[in-house]
Amino acid sequence: MLIQQNLELLKADIPDYVTLVAVSKTKPISDIQEAFDAGQKIFGENKVQEMVNKYDALPKGIQWHMIGHLQRNKVKYMAHFVDLIHGVDSLKTLKEIDKQAKKHDRIINCLLQVRIAKEETKFGLTFKEIEDLFNSEDFDSLKNIKITGLMGMSTFTENEGQITAEFKSLKLFFDKLKNDKPLTFNCQLSTLSMGMSGDYKIAIANGSTMIRVGSKIFGVRNYIA
Ligand SMILES: *Cc1c(COP(=O)(O)O)cnc(C)c1O
Repeated sequence: MLIQQNLELLKADIPDYVTLVAVSKTKPISDIQEAFDAGQKIFGENKVQEMVNKYDALPKGIQWHMIGHLQRNKVKYMAHFVDLIHGVDSLKTLKEIDKQAKKHDRIINCLLQVRIAKEETKFGLTFKEIEDLFNSEDFDSLKNIKITGLMGMSTFTENEGQITAEFKSLKLFFDKLKNDKPLTFNCQLSTLSMGMSGDYKIAIANGSTMIRVGSKIFGVRNYIA
């Protein structure tokens, strides 16, 4: 009941063009079922095994997004069903996703993770590394992936000025890339995934088209995930 209310409040608070990913990591099947019954179709998880278990147990109408840092050796377990991978941060990982997608005769949509936060612990590519990746010959040979946009996480801070500046810099780079990079079968940039429970309003005000919200829907998590 509470989950349904939280979803309704959140949806009333965001524009129609913004896609909501309900981040269900650490939360039980029953919570996800409740959100699904309330009309939520897209869920995000940050651990492959947990996502596979939930995929097996829940309705097949759910679209599963992998939002966590990706280990290459785990890609194969989700390649048959994952809808979007947010956290791609190397050409090596992209090649592995391409290889596994090919085995299932499908194309897997991916977002490149950009490092905008000042924290050492956050993953992601620099702007320069993304440009290099797109310009590499190897990239052109990937036929079973499609880069549909970028993803970024702001620094964990109360400083809204800093969060705003980080999201703005990502939006600026996203627009530049869309302008500079010719459309190809494996790269069509339309999605900018930025914003979580604490900063989605700032993210949307600065160009986000996809937010990843967990605790504001499902309540606080009991342990760090
Ligand atoms: C956990 C997580 C979220 C959601 O965090 P909340 O603060 O609970 O909304 C979003 N994005 C990523 C990458 C996450 O790991």
